Amino acid sequence: MLCEYSAGYVMGSIGDNPLDYFEHIIDHCYDLVEAEKKQGRPIVGIMCEFTPRELILAAGAWPVCLCGGSAQTIPPAEQYLPANLCPLVKSTFGYCVQHSNPFLEWSDLVVAETTCDGKKKMYELMRQFKPFYVLELPQKAADPDARAHWIAEVHKLHDYLQRHFQVAISTDALRAAAELMNQERRLRRQLAQYLSSENPPLTGRQLLACKSMISGIPQTLDQFQSLIDRIERGERFTPARPKADRAIRVLLTGVPLVHGAERVIELIEQCGAIVVCQENCTGLKPLLEDVDSQAGDIWEAIADKYFHLPCSVMTPNERRMDSLRTLARQYRADCIVELVWQACLTYDVESYQVRQLAEKELQLPYLKLTTDYSPSDSARLKVRIEALMETVRQRASAPGGDPQPHTSRSCAQP
Ligand code: SF4
Ligand code: SF4
Repeated sequence: MLCEYSAGYVMGSIGDNPLDYFEHIIDHCYDLVEAEKKQGRPIVGIMCEFTPRELILAAGAWPVCLCGGSAQTIPPAEQYLPANLCPLVKSTFGYCVQHSNPFLEWSDLVVAETTCDGKKKMYELMRQFKPFYVLELPQKAADPDARAHWIAEVHKLHDYLQRHFQVAISTDALRAAAELMNQERRLRRQLAQYLSSENPPLTGRQLLACKSMISGIPQTLDQFQSLIDRIERGERFTPARPKADRAIRVLLTGVPLVHGAERVIELIEQCGAIVVCQENCTGLKPLLEDVDSQAGDIWEAIADKYFHLPCSVMTPNERRMDSLRTLARQYRADCIVELVWQACLTYDVESYQVRQLAEKELQLPYLKLTTDYSPSDSARLKVRIEALMETVRQRASAPGGDPQPHTSRSCAQP
């Protein structure tokens, strides 16, 4: 059925093209959750990549993403929240006060973490609507005490889920859930890697759509595999470009582009570039590390995977710089674009270091785009993106410049 939450997506005939499946992912998730709720399966709403999905799956529940990407739910949220808050926080809360996100309405519990200030204070209002559990995320990731604290938090969530859902979560169930999530991460990583090729078979926008709001559902894993099989057989989902007309390769970093908030990646690709790498939370960031499902202590293995996430709420956040270094090389980026949602202080402040890394160390043009969910500044953003593209082209055509700059850099090989 067509879910109101999927506004903006057009229902059409769904053939055997996996991209059609992902285009209608909200509706598939809606139908699935509606059916499974009737069978008594619990739903746990989540809002961040720090949430250890494995524990929720091992408790027999489904982790469903509640992050809002709609501009329309922001005005109702602003009746409660300050206007100068990140649109992601406001949109998510707007769905909550309007009772218009069926996945939140169906949720038996919401699990969240103490990440940025906007989110964690919004949770205090949201918990009036739903049972809520917040893990305390320590933010000095390199500190051994912080790791020990996070492992204890993961154990506490484990105990809470057992009590809340009246289930016993076994280590075998945790290992099975870790393998399932590893499989999902592996498939998504493989899809992302196709964009490291010289003439990628998918656009960045198409790749961004290839995700599910429910973690670990078999139907979605099958669709990932089906898309991989078709690409392996040589199929393309975007036309090949002649060598003389190669697209400028963009590494996109910064905040996540949740469902409904894909405008910036679309603008970049409308300017003739291709976003070959998405380093953010809706891209590779949560996929870079798996859980060691055979580790002696499975709780520690799960805790470690999530604790290593290089989010800007961590201080210092050197892992993100390391990740950007590696990805810029691996995906042969020609430039770096950083997206910052308005009022996202952590990514905004950290952008100084990303700019330094891009321009001084990697010698790549860098552009920071600060915006929200309103399309009103699209023309202005496009002008800035086009100026960046021009800079990349000028560098390539300068005397001694390389017409295909990314291929001859000393760091060109992964
Ligand atoms: S950017 Fe940070 S706070 Fe936002 S979803 Fe990712 S991990 Fe969570
Ligand atoms: S984009 Fe920034 S402010 Fe918004 S929820 Fe994520 S970390 Fe918080």
